[in-house]
Amino acid sequence: MTSVLAVLAKNSKSVMDNKNQTNRIFIELHVPDFNIAKDFYSKLGFEVVSDDGIADGVGYFVMERKGAMINFYGGSDKVYGQSYFKKFPKETPRGFEVELTIPVPVAEIDSYFAEVKQKISKNVVQDLVVKTDRSLTWRDFRVADPFGFYLRFTEPINWRVCHCGSGKEWKQCHGK
Ligand SMILES: [Zn+2]
Repeated sequence: MTSVLAVLAKNSKSVMDNKNQTNRIFIELHVPDFNIAKDFYSKLGFEVVSDDGIADGVGYFVMERKGAMINFYGGSDKVYGQSYFKKFPKETPRGFEVELTIPVPVAEIDSYFAEVKQKISKNVVQDLVVKTDRSLTWRDFRVADPFGFYLRFTEPINWRVCHCGSGKEWKQCHGK
């Protein structure tokens, strides 16, 4: 199902399937239950790429879907005793005001969304819809995982272009 909107997005200046985008940051989610995490992210199409198991109540594993890696730490209530986070109440919402933003190629996002909607519909907090920011148009959908972490699956956007220096056009005006 290729929609008119998908075609529009493909032709947009700033939405693109940029396979050369690189970003050297890794996301580590601290969760108390690895089975719940593995089950949920499997339904999103992620696969385990490494798994240290749990030793003495604390473990580590990594899942990946098409180059999007998420690292997981914890695996028991010991997660709440982590050296930094232990100073906050354990009821603190996981990942409050953080969005994990994961690009999905324009040509794949319709079928991916349909799959997600079928498997974990109650976790979808926003369907696949068109978003606009000035001349930029793209589509995304949003999911809340069982721990509360907020995920955005979005048509790829070139975040190196901006609006500040150009007036009307999106363009790269910082750095190289
Ligand atoms: Zn700028």
